[in-house]
Amino acid sequence: MEATPQLDPDLLDKVINLCKRRGFIFQSAEIYGGFRSTYDYGPLGVNLLRNVKQAWWRAMVQTRVDIVGLDAAILGPPAVWAASGHLETFTDPLVDCLKCKERWREDKINGVCPNCGSTEFTAPRAFNLMFKTQAGPVEGEGSTAYLRPETAQGIFTNFANVLSTTRKKPPFGIAQIGKSFRNEITPQNFVFRTREFEQMEMEYFVPPADAEQWYRYWIETRLNWYLDLGIPREMLQLHEHAKEDLSHYSKGTTDVEFFFPWGFDELEGIANRGDYDLTQHAKHSGVALDYFDQASGERYTPYVIEPAAGATRAMMAFLLSAYHEDVVEGETRSVLRLDWRLAPYQVAVLPLSKKPDLEGVSAEVLGQLSPHFMCDYDVTQSIGKRYRRQDEIGTPFCITVDFETLNDRAVTVRDRDTMTQVRVPIDGLLTHLRNATGQI
Ligand code: ATP
Repeated sequence: MEATPQLDPDLLDKVINLCKRRGFIFQSAEIYGGFRSTYDYGPLGVNLLRNVKQAWWRAMVQTRVDIVGLDAAILGPPAVWAASGHLETFTDPLVDCLKCKERWREDKINGVCPNCGSTEFTAPRAFNLMFKTQAGPVEGEGSTAYLRPETAQGIFTNFANVLSTTRKKPPFGIAQIGKSFRNEITPQNFVFRTREFEQMEMEYFVPPADAEQWYRYWIETRLNWYLDLGIPREMLQLHEHAKEDLSHYSKGTTDVEFFFPWGFDELEGIANRGDYDLTQHAKHSGVALDYFDQASGERYTPYVIEPAAGATRAMMAFLLSAYHEDVVEGETRSVLRLDWRLAPYQVAVLPLSKKPDLEGVSAEVLGQLSPHFMCDYDVTQSIGKRYRRQDEIGTPFCITVDFETLNDRAVTVRDRDTMTQVRVPIDGLLTHLRNATGQI
């Protein structure tokens, strides 16, 4: 067992504070007192979250010929959730504390009320986590609809559509990013567990005999995705579920866990779901959901390997692992060492003063870079303060346009992590940054 990483005990508070102060994440409906456990993503947060999703899409769809994308509806009829098993079994055990009356998820509190310390609770009862609503103006059985609690089922219900329109054959995958909704009993820990969140899920359909091998492959591949985007190895671990803890349909589940301030906790689950989902939907819909392999003349229902990740939860992990403090010229600087692909702004253009000729050249620099990099522009305060503000939100490169620029048509490029500065001609700036980010 490796040593547990040491974290600043105030890390969570510091990151939550930064998120609010700089416009990453706001409490939803704040001007009305807030709405518990719902959050809005501000100008910086929306960029970071988009970049997390984009990095996933790039790794899972763009750079692979064996995976295609999908964007299915959020609203669905009860039939889908009857077939998937969610109507019957997508429940958490709910208990009430007999002393303070707070309501908890029994499997998360180890028999002690986190609010008042009491150990006496009501007997657990099953609470279905799906949000139920009504589609159309007439209430009644026929109009019941559910908000999806996971994106996966939209993939299974489109299996035949995708198969016939793309001519893919196992092994192949269908990937989807989108919002999911769960009426969590105890939403907590900022955006770690919320009632409305975003998922990044992929269902990989394989010949049954190859399922175990693909399951191992996806555990490895998904762990590497987080490492590649900068999370240190010691902050990640794999947790393979014991056979007795598996859902009835699962032939194996391994979680990728991140070292959150409260300990290792799930970022993503990779499961070998067997043929459960396709078989269930085929049975309930009456539509065949199998694959005919022309080469072998064999018809079979593919097994499914599912890497299911949370986009909002991953964003939180990237923020927590990127947050650092160091001392620069006697002052504490907070810096987000985010991978450049994730940073809300990749470049900040900073004219040394508001003089029109400096702003003019700065506009030219922005015009050159902004089609290729997400750029910020800041002309207020001293240059030192502006560097700190960019460090704090994770901007990898600051470009300073100074009076010398008017003579030599060169600018200063400052690196967030090393704080070194180099002089680069404006005409070579794009190439310089592409080089520095490993794109060429
Ligand atoms: P838990 O047991 O913690 O409730 P789960 O194992 O049911 O979660 P999955 O159904 O496997 O979660 O969902 C896949 C991923 O979706 C999770 O690993 C997580 O990143 C994300 N996720 C699930 N529920 C939430 C939530 N309420 N808020 C934010 N992200 C979530």
